[in-house]
Amino acid sequence: KQVALLMDEDAIRRALMRIAHEIVERNHGVHNVSLVGIRRRGVPLAERIAANLALIENETLQVGILDIGLYRDDLAHRPFAPVNQTSIKSAMIDKRVVVLVDDVLYTGRTVRAALDALSDFGRPKAIQLAVLIDRGHRELPIRADYVGKNVPTARSERIHVEMQEIDGVDRVYVEKV
Ligand code: 5GP
Ligand code: MG
Repeated sequence: KQVALLMDEDAIRRALMRIAHEIVERNHGVHNVSLVGIRRRGVPLAERIAANLALIENETLQVGILDIGLYRDDLAHRPFAPVNQTSIKSAMIDKRVVVLVDDVLYTGRTVRAALDALSDFGRPKAIQLAVLIDRGHRELPIRADYVGKNVPTARSERIHVEMQEIDGVDRVYVEKV
């Protein structure tokens, strides 16, 4: 198996700080912005972006958690249905700009399911998407507003996103199969 490092700890930290600045610039601050992380690794990413926003704008944002395991349109092909661990308050969604956060954007089906799931909690003013890695191969008309790193991949390749909070280390690497 051949592996190549795509981002180290510093690169991840800088990308998440840049994304925080881009969120502030695009939305003229974060007064009306909510962050929602898609489980599992979208959650620590959203929390780190929130910490950066607190430094930049001196505003504390709550981070919602969305578990789309029960919404995916290919659920029937999955070996098991995971327990839904969604944690979102309607006040975080209604009339607000919601920034969805995930680790890897691939076909777009997870994000489509996330949009569907979000609509159960209210009607956002707008929804934006932030991802650490965009690996291409979209199968739906979905794109990210904020991207840590664009990584052209073969379908056979796999991106490994490791985060301190879950994996004990911050790094992103690609595995060429
Ligand atoms: P999609 O639904 O866009 O096909 O895939 C995105 C979702 O699947 C994300 O939640 C992401 O965590 C996971 N995913 C898809 N491809 C990869 C990959 O190459 N590496 C990792 N770590 N996750 C992936
Ligand atoms: Mg995921």
